[in-house]
Amino acid sequence: MKLILLGAPGAGKGTVAKKLTELDGSVQISTGDILRSAVTAGTELGKQIESLMKSGDLVSDDLIMGIMEERLQQPDCEKGFLLDGFPRTIPQAEALKALLKRLNIKLDMAVNLSVDREVILDRLTTRRTCSNPECQAIYNVKSNPPKQEGICDKCGSPVIQREDETAEAISHRLETYNEKTAPLIGFYEKEGLLLTVDATSTDNVLAAIKQKLEG
Ligand code: ADP
Repeated sequence: MKLILLGAPGAGKGTVAKKLTELDGSVQISTGDILRSAVTAGTELGKQIESLMKSGDLVSDDLIMGIMEERLQQPDCEKGFLLDGFPRTIPQAEALKALLKRLNIKLDMAVNLSVDREVILDRLTTRRTCSNPECQAIYNVKSNPPKQEGICDKCGSPVIQREDETAEAISHRLETYNEKTAPLIGFYEKEGLLLTVDATSTDNVLAAIKQKLEG
């Protein structure tokens, strides 16, 4: 399957993407994970974007398109891909459309994960992430804590709160989402690719996607 996952921070794009990869071997491509790995590794790119990411601002469209153009041509994408956190702006969506046309790739749909603001705020403040850049597993102190407090079940690295998950950065990320990313819902509706689902429950989202792919 070739899907775009849309939704506010905390809507569950990453969680849904991970579950979907288990179905048919499609790869999850999270621009947030790619960028965080660059920051942790201290690469030139990482140094450029570190402060921007910490405050919850978006990195430039050109930079993201450079990363994605390369990523989408890697052989593991042939089986399918789940775009998590990309595109994030109308210019990115336009550029992706042109890129996919050039690569002769057809998207199945753009799934809009819809969740109430209170739920989002609660999820983001209680979210924890594995600090290992190769893993970045996601936990929640209330609903999905690691078996041993503060230690990742999958790789044993410390589980931490992301630097952009302070109350201030969270509210900034939600503003950025409303201003820059929410317009993509209209964009994909016009393209005839939109599926909006209630994302309060992950199982509900997975069922709706499966049904649409089969139907
Ligand atoms: P979330 O969806 O939980 O906000 P992500 O892990 O997707 O978090 O992204 C974290 C940060 O990475 C964003 O706040 C932004 O700075 C940067 N980022 C990720 N994807 C993009 C993108 N497509 N365009 C611009 N910036 C991005």
